[in-house]
Amino acid sequence: MPHPTTFADASASLQQAEYVLLGVPFDRTTSFRPGARFGPDSIRQHSWNFESYDLETGLSLGDLAIHDLGNTDEFGTASEMADSVREEIRPLYAAGKVPIVLGGDHACSPPAVEAYPDDAPSLGVLYLDAHMDFRSNYLGDRRSHACSARRILEKVGARNIVVLGVRSVSAGEMEDLRSLGMSYITAHEVAQEGIESAAQRALNMLKTERIYISLDIDAIDPAYAGATGTPEPFGLTPRDVKHVFDTAAPRLAGLDIMEVSPHYDTGNTSALAARLAREAIVRRAAAVGRQ
Ligand code: MN
Ligand code: MN
Repeated sequence: MPHPTTFADASASLQQAEYVLLGVPFDRTTSFRPGARFGPDSIRQHSWNFESYDLETGLSLGDLAIHDLGNTDEFGTASEMADSVREEIRPLYAAGKVPIVLGGDHACSPPAVEAYPDDAPSLGVLYLDAHMDFRSNYLGDRRSHACSARRILEKVGARNIVVLGVRSVSAGEMEDLRSLGMSYITAHEVAQEGIESAAQRALNMLKTERIYISLDIDAIDPAYAGATGTPEPFGLTPRDVKHVFDTAAPRLAGLDIMEVSPHYDTGNTSALAARLAREAIVRRAAAVGRQ
């Protein structure tokens, strides 16, 4: 596969770019099986599988201003990783760019949200995950991937985060999220009411001007995305997630795709992650006008 370390069609300079990719090859907080540190480069490799031209919008990704910053350094602790990711992402928002962060385990998401400037248009977070990720700390680490929705809630406020696709949670997390007032829509509700209704409900809950989407790839059923650290049955379909991306595109402030652990399949999960990143870019471009 050609150009293994750069995302396909990421040919713009950083200065010109509107969409900026950053890989975070960090998986030190994975709780079941590791390997998400290989996610960013695998997603990049698989991005070359796809045509630049997008059938639905008529846009070509080759004409869009996309830049790939490559990967961050490696870090000893999640806290060091978070400090560094925050510093890398902050200037991107400040310059009006849309960051697209490729993980890495889900611990890499909170700093990408925390980097959002307080004086920018209001920000809500759509958090797609099989898990609630709502522990106060996990094994003594507040920066664990099991705590990421909670850390994000602390940044944006309980009314400005919705967890979508969840189907695994502890009793303690349920107690905490009820007292803090976080909203969620389960994967079972999505199956029952349909994704159009569920996505609309989720977007209506977020009253903010802009939306950051955090996709834990395990939100999608292991039948489609089995290469991940903590696979959980009864998940969303790829098309469900595509619909969410398409619907949220006009308000998209940033995106991350986390927990792709490529060695557990032969490439389908990485291909799906790459395709969804491209979907988010081209749909937002179509919604806001070509830059
Ligand atoms: Mn997660
Ligand atoms: Mn998860």
